[in-house]
Amino acid sequence: MTAARNLPTLLIAGAGASGLLAAISARKTARELGVADERLRIVLLERNPKPGNKIAISGGGHCNLTHDADVKSLLEKGFLDKSEQRFLRHAIHSFSNADLLELFGRYGLKTEAREDGRVFPVSGRAGEVLDLLRRMVEESAATLVTNARADRLECAASRFAVHAGERQFEADAVILATGGASWGSAGTTGDGNRLAAAVGHSIAPVMPALAPNYFIAPPKAELVGITLRNILLLASADGAADSRRGDVLISHRGISGPACLSLSRSVAGFLAAGKTVTISVDLLPGREADTLSAFILEEAARHGTRQVRTFLQRCPLAPERLDAFANSSSETPTIPNAFADEILRQAGISKEVTLSGLTKAQRRGLVSALKHLALGTVKKVPLDRAEVSAGGIELGEIDPKTMQSKIHPRLYCCGELLNYAGEVGGFNLQAAFSTGWLAGSQAARTLLDNARQPAQE
Ligand SMILES: Cc1cc2nc3c(=O)[nH]c(=O)nc-3n(C[C@H](O)[C@H](O)[C@H](O)COP(=O)(O)OP(=O)(O)OC[C@H]3O[C@@H](n4cnc5c(N)ncnc54)[C@H](O)[C@@H]3O)c2cc1C
Repeated sequence: MTAARNLPTLLIAGAGASGLLAAISARKTARELGVADERLRIVLLERNPKPGNKIAISGGGHCNLTHDADVKSLLEKGFLDKSEQRFLRHAIHSFSNADLLELFGRYGLKTEAREDGRVFPVSGRAGEVLDLLRRMVEESAATLVTNARADRLECAASRFAVHAGERQFEADAVILATGGASWGSAGTTGDGNRLAAAVGHSIAPVMPALAPNYFIAPPKAELVGITLRNILLLASADGAADSRRGDVLISHRGISGPACLSLSRSVAGFLAAGKTVTISVDLLPGREADTLSAFILEEAARHGTRQVRTFLQRCPLAPERLDAFANSSSETPTIPNAFADEILRQAGISKEVTLSGLTKAQRRGLVSALKHLALGTVKKVPLDRAEVSAGGIELGEIDPKTMQSKIHPRLYCCGELLNYAGEVGGFNLQAAFSTGWLAGSQAARTLLDNARQPAQE
């Protein structure tokens, strides 16, 4: 007999980027299989009064929804860890950045790719992206239950019970899409990790990623607000080290800016391992100390009476070519005045010293300060200010082709609660959209196949 059993129910916990896409793709799959909407119930539980809080604040309210690149480059650029790239490959191929833009395009969203590959709505409004997602979910005839925080998950042989306070929801399949554990004020406090752990999943320790660094001694007031462009940011931690090239902003508590955000996952890892992490900058990356020393000597021969301070103020930051010192145009960023003073201080050179007056030891000190200017010792990488969290459900326990749990066949997990973390640039939303889409379509397919199986005696 091939009669359908009880009406199958798919429950999705979390109505953020991945959960919303899971609902939309589950319905699309069911319709493609010729299943009427009333033959598959889709329920979305959201702890907040409204879905998609993080989408609303993404990209500073502008929503950098994806990245413009072929899938291979997107993975390589967006996910520095090879195992994360491998895990996400299938999901992002199944629902790529092009598929995402095509889907939104059908609903009238106009997007633009910036020079650096980041893609935004032309309107510049994250709210527009969220409004369209809400419309798509409505059209998918999913039931959205807000103010419902899933706090317990029970797996019986063929059914799930999801508890949200006093309420209980029965389901045949569950998709966990509760997001990461950072920026908790948006509703993401690692609930999915706890729910998954309670049914047997292993959870990699949660770490902040894409976060500012707070220092033990805050930066000097005169440095605060300065952006160092395209420099090399270095984190040294008791023998271990990591670095990133890019812009760094000096804040009143430490540092922020793209290079800092990208490096923060490593810094948080060093701190978690009990290491002391010091942050420095290389203002002339790619220039060996010897070359730099020789160049200072040449400059001294040309402009001996020039103060070292003036030389520094005219010195371009991270120039493509070293002779740009001499030829720098007014558009080339140079070492900011306050940093020129800081370099002199760290090199132990007084402001009056001229290039020809530099001793050999002072020249060595100057080169060292330019290559390793100490900014501070890290006190904290704040999880509540991190754009994403690394850690979460171990990737080895999830089938990358379906997002299905290898522990419970009708449990699916997607989005940031999985143990991956992307770079800044639209990669995290794309990963959430792709894994959510895949989880939704696969869960619907499995449920509907099961419902068509001959009834058990
Ligand atoms: C300030 C900020 C800016 C960002 N900007 C960008 C950007 O421009 N581009 C980009 O690619 N990425 C950006 N990100 C990251 C991106 O927003 C996330 O990686 C992405 O939203 C993750 O999608 P998700 O579906 O896994 O989780 P989320 O979108 O966080 O959704 C999870 C949902 O689950 C709900 N929830 C949590 N626990 C429960 C529970 N127990 N029961 C029911 N519901 C629950 C939450 O309230 C939330 O609505 C930004 C993040 C932040 C914090």
